[in-house]
Amino acid sequence: MELAYRDIAYCKNVGAKRADILRHELDVRTALDMVRQFPYKYIDRSRFYRIAELDDEDTYVQIIGEVTEWHTIGIGKAQRLSATFFDGTHQCELVWFQGVKYVKLQRNIKYLLFGKPSRFNHIYNFVHPELTPWDKVTPEMTQGLEPYYNTTEKMKRVGLNSKAMRNIIAELLPDLKMGVPDTIGADVLQKYRLMSLTEALINVHFPKDTLSMQNARARLKFEELFYVQLHLLRQMKRREQNPGFAMPMVGSRFHALYKALPFDLTSAQKRVIHEIHDDLKSGHQMNRLLQGDVGSGKTMVALMCCLLAVDNGYQACIMAPTEILANQHYETLKAFLAPLGDAVHIALLTGSTSAKNRVPIHNGLMNGTIHILVGTHALLEDTVQWQNLGFVVIDEQHRFGVAQRAKLWTKNQMPPHVLVMSATPIPRTLAMTVYGDLRVSIIDELPPGRKPVQTIHYSIKKRAQVYAFVREQIQKGRQIYVVFPLIKENEKMDLQDLENGFNELCEAFPEYKISMVHGQMKAADKDLQMTRFANGETQILVATTVIEVGVNVPNATVMIIQNAERFGLSQLHQLRGRVGRGGDQSFCILLTDMELSTDTRKRMDIMVATNDGFRIAEEDLRLRGAGDLEGTQQSGIPFDLKIANLATDGQLLALARQAALDILDKDPLLEDEINRIYKRQLDLKRAEMPQNWSEIS
Ligand code: ADP
Ligand code: MG
Repeated sequence: MELAYRDIAYCKNVGAKRADILRHELDVRTALDMVRQFPYKYIDRSRFYRIAELDDEDTYVQIIGEVTEWHTIGIGKAQRLSATFFDGTHQCELVWFQGVKYVKLQRNIKYLLFGKPSRFNHIYNFVHPELTPWDKVTPEMTQGLEPYYNTTEKMKRVGLNSKAMRNIIAELLPDLKMGVPDTIGADVLQKYRLMSLTEALINVHFPKDTLSMQNARARLKFEELFYVQLHLLRQMKRREQNPGFAMPMVGSRFHALYKALPFDLTSAQKRVIHEIHDDLKSGHQMNRLLQGDVGSGKTMVALMCCLLAVDNGYQACIMAPTEILANQHYETLKAFLAPLGDAVHIALLTGSTSAKNRVPIHNGLMNGTIHILVGTHALLEDTVQWQNLGFVVIDEQHRFGVAQRAKLWTKNQMPPHVLVMSATPIPRTLAMTVYGDLRVSIIDELPPGRKPVQTIHYSIKKRAQVYAFVREQIQKGRQIYVVFPLIKENEKMDLQDLENGFNELCEAFPEYKISMVHGQMKAADKDLQMTRFANGETQILVATTVIEVGVNVPNATVMIIQNAERFGLSQLHQLRGRVGRGGDQSFCILLTDMELSTDTRKRMDIMVATNDGFRIAEEDLRLRGAGDLEGTQQSGIPFDLKIANLATDGQLLALARQAALDILDKDPLLEDEINRIYKRQLDLKRAEMPQNWSEIS
């Protein structure tokens, strides 16, 4: 019977109880699901080591030799067995803490030792090694690469360890060899020189050598990435066929602002505005991601594009993730728009807008007298109705869930054009996946005259020097940010840290005024503190990461980050972007604990070495892996990646995306007979997807 139709319960070595656990823990229902559980690593069992060759690395090895001597220490549960193993020239030590009475050792016979060495006092030792008498060693045991499978505690309780998984899959091998239907067309397989699915499934579990293992994995990764891309790109193509509001005109307000700007737009800003305008003219709905490093002037681009919409008779909104940021956008935009007088009416709506103040806003949106609304997700509420919403900017996209975005679709007869702005640059591979259904515009140039922020890494021991530096900067008239980490699990303690930090700074700088903001303050208090700092009434702002996004105080030249080891790279970069916004040389000081992990050290070194947000994003992805990156959970990659890794499989991803594009360019909705296999696979996968993914994005 075809593997896809065989219930896992009826496979050899499984049975009802294990089948339940497999279903529950791994969502394995059929024999085909089972062979799609891929090993997470392989150990080369064709290689035999000598003890002299071992190095400190924590990898499994096998050695042939004899047990020359052994003794037990302790009694009962505390008993341990320790043995000396000799490979003919060198010795190592074997240790058992558990099941000591089951370990039967013999002198003068040849053993195969298998395990993970660690070094202790110049001697290698193996804890709980596998020790097999040589005459019991079967050829299979020492052939090729041995696959290792992830298992859970619940699985282990019913004996489903890695070895048991392997045995179950081994029993399916003969049927697998009869062939499984491929999920990728022969033309694509040939073009990208990929193995057939059957061949790949055989070789991913039982590779004859490293090359065939790698080829098998590449084929399976390609398949996974290909379907993600096919799904996203089909959505994109489908939407691009949808009608959208046509905004062909470049009107008087746009021109007036352009003339009134206190600076020239950078050529990157101009290019991006053109790209967006092309979409607005097209008569189809736009879905575009605007990427650009911190301070590259995305907000200005957003404003110019809002005016394009307004000049064509539509309303626009800009949605920010926090009240602080919404307020600040509102203030900045209002200032830029001031020279235009009554021609553009802009309003602010957030969670703390009072019921009384909402009335004129609601009315203005309904009768069209408000042209641009800036706000938080408060503007998604059902009571917010528009006369003619045509253009939506979502700032710092990752803070919004996909479902929240969907609400905007219902605010007019047709979905508005959507411009998503990302807070920090996103690595290419991640953008292709998380935002794979969006067209991308990139601002790859900073406004002229910016001095790059100088970044310095200090251990907290150097606090006195840092304070001296702070004093020197304040005496020059500059202002200082001091940021403390806030980790949700223990808000109380973090708040305590923040308050201690605040008090310490008050003592250290009695002659200066210090503001403090954190997430648990009332919005009005937060605003007051922020405003005092922005107006220069206070010299130091102590804050948690609430100031991370967007806040703009050009006179602030020093960003001190306490416990910098607790922040991710992208977050550090984002924080650093708060300074260096005026004409003065700015500094970012990373303070860390004395003891640093290698990983932390690397992160600090990268921060010191570069100001390039795209490079930092790439490094962040590499160090942390895709799953951990801020934003990926919420934006949600449509299917779980089981084998591909966005941090390391960028090249395969680009190929898979190209392959998907080639198919969709000819057949955007996958209606042709030859593309039936793709449509069917996508339908199968859609059934597994979170609901909202199949609808929108
Ligand atoms: P982003 O949102 O990309 O981080 P902003 O839009 O907040 O950047 O811009 C950062 C600062 O640069 C703002 O003070 C803005 O007024 C200013 N700015 C934007 N575009 C230019 C430009 N072309 N030349 C000079 N300054 C600019
Ligand atoms: Mg911004």
